Parts: sequence; C-alpha cells; structure tokens
Amino acid sequence: MFKGILIEKDEAGYRASLTDLDEAGLPEGDVTVRVSHSTLNYKDALAITGRGPVVRKFPMVPGIDLAGTVEHSTHPDYKTGEAVILNGWGVGETHWGGLAQKARMNGNWLVPLPEQFTPQQAMAIGTAGYTAMLCVLTLERHGVTPAHGEILVTGAAGGVGSIAMAILSRLGFNVVAVSGRPSEADYLKSLGAVEVLDRAMFAAPGKPLGKERWAGAVDVVGSHTLANVCATTKYRGVVTACGLAGGMDFPATVAPFILRGVTLAGIDSVMCPRRERLEAWRRLGSDLDISKLTAISKEVGLSEVMPLAGQLLNGEVRGRVVVDVNG
Ligand code: NDP
Repeated sequence: MFKGILIEKDEAGYRASLTDLDEAGLPEGDVTVRVSHSTLNYKDALAITGRGPVVRKFPMVPGIDLAGTVEHSTHPDYKTGEAVILNGWGVGETHWGGLAQKARMNGNWLVPLPEQFTPQQAMAIGTAGYTAMLCVLTLERHGVTPAHGEILVTGAAGGVGSIAMAILSRLGFNVVAVSGRPSEADYLKSLGAVEVLDRAMFAAPGKPLGKERWAGAVDVVGSHTLANVCATTKYRGVVTACGLAGGMDFPATVAPFILRGVTLAGIDSVMCPRRERLEAWRRLGSDLDISKLTAISKEVGLSEVMPLAGQLLNGEVRGRVVVDVNG
C-alpha cells in the first residue's frame, strides 16, 4: 500500500481525498517509479477541485509532474535506482499521476533527471517551468533577440510567469511583468522584471491595434489579455500563448497578424515530442539561475495539497508549489 490523492466521481459526487492506495491498482506500464516529489500546477488544481474538465477517467490520481527513482523496469532505457522525471503525456488526466508515493507508466514518457537539478529543484520547475522554456525556445526560433526590444510576461507572479521571467532576464531580455498583485512587485523585480504593469490594463476589451511596444510575449492568461497583447506587439513580434488563467476565449481581430506580421505561436507541453522536451530541460539546466528557485517555490506535504488547490485557482499562490509526497 502507498499514500496518494484519489479523485472519485460517482453518485456521491466529485471529490478528492488523501488515501491508502493498493499497488495492484496502478495502471499498466513498463516502469514503476518510487515518487519523491510532485507539484501542484494550475491543471492539477482544476482536477482536484473539479473546476475544470481535466480528469477524463475515474478514479484518478492527479499530478501531471513527478520526480523519483525507478523501482522496477522492463524498459531498455531505464534501470532500477535511476532518477527520473515526468511531465504531461496525460498523466494525472487519463493515467494515474504523480501526487502519490508510487506511479507506473510507459518508460518512453520519462526523462532522466537533469544532472544540474535535485528532484526538488526539477519539481520547482515542473511543467510550468518547462512550458516557460518552450515559450522562450519558440521566441528564439522566430528570431526574437534582446536587441528587438521588451518581452511582456502575463500572470507574472504565477508558476509559468515566474520561471519565464527568470529565464528571459538571464538571457539578457528586458522583461515587463503583468500582474494583478502589486504587493508582489519586489518579488517580480527580483526575478528580473524591469517594470510591473497592472493586469487591469489588459483585462478589458481593447482596440484592434494599439501603440507598438513588445518584441515578444509569454501569455498565460488568454481572453482579452491575449487580444490586447497581440494588439500592442511590435511589427513582426512574436506572442507565445500557453494558458487560459483569464479565460479560454480569444476576442481579437486579425489586424495585428495581417497589418503588423505578428506571429501568434501556440505552446503545448503535454504531447510535446521527446526531442523538444530534452532540449527544453537541457536549456533549463544552462539558462535558469537555480538560486532563484528558492524564492519561486515552496514545499508542502500531500495533506496540504487540497486546500492549496482552490487558493491557486484564485491567483493567491505565488510561484511554484513542490509536493514532498513522503512529507
Ligand atoms: P498559476 O496559477 O501559478 O499562475 C497563473 C497566474 O495568472 C496567476 O498567478 C495570476 O498572476 C494570473 N491570473 C490568474 N487568474 C487571472 C485572471 N482571471 N485574469 C488575469 N490573470 C490571472 O498557473 P501556472 O503558471 O501554472 O499556469 C498558467 C496557465 O498556463 C494556466 O492556464 C495553465 O493551464 C497554463 N499552462 C499551460 C501549459 C501548456 O502546455 N500549454 C503548461 C502549463 C500551464 P498575477 O497574480 O501575477 O496576475
């Protein structure tokens, strides 16, 4: 038996609880992992609270991220005792996830723990940080350099936003943060923001085109914010869209795309091909100042995850939450 969070949905309703799970209940897979740490991402919070249709099979162990050690493997690339991490692939949505002391999955989904990081540090980065790096890689692929101008990061005090700012500032970009939390201005500046803008400036319906300012953007908010970011992006600028913290809709016009040649690039971490994942983790190893992870993350035990899920969706959690599943 091992401890884990279980989400159930039946006549009694939708509920998540910390419970004892039987190893016989683990899903199919060629690698069994003794999990040491997981995380609480936005998607995990939607799954745990039931506020979004994330879980597609019940009962489900949530947790889209995990770090741990291989306990048993018939996969050619992984041996007992090896340190591994996992992000996405539907884990925590359609396949039991990382918010438990054990997990079993397809070894092709695993990534060796990058040597620069401890399991805690890898989870302080987690899917949020790996997605932030996918956004940065996309800006680079489209030719955006610090010489082109400022990069806007929305939802800046959250997980993706915090790590995106830390990476971009280390790479020499001038980063402008958008946040609904003025009280976090010092935190955002410590991560490299040169200016902090109030999220209210972007939240209301805006004009099809505004004054050109951003060479690039990392947007986690969607809705009017994404539309306004596109409308104020400079000629040939690049906007990476990865989130929906402000809404799933996109009430925009094509003006920025057809008149200013703006590129809107979609970012998905879940099914991202292995080659790009490995590249993202390699770049996290070289381009993220690890010392910033202490300010960005806090660690909790499994029993603290459920109350935190609601707070995270309300935008009350700063940075990243690492879960010590044995704590
Ligand atoms: P967090 O909850 O840590 O951060 C989200 C931030 O968005 C909040 O901290 C807040 O920042 C801001 N925010 C919250 N609600 C609103 C609102 N109503 N309007 C405007 N801003 C708001 O989440 P993550 O950083 O982990 O994830 C951010 C988004 O990215 C989520 O939608 C998530 O699903 C998505 N995501 C997508 C991935 C992909 O593969 N495409 C992978 C990872 C995440 P502040 O207080 O500074 O304003």
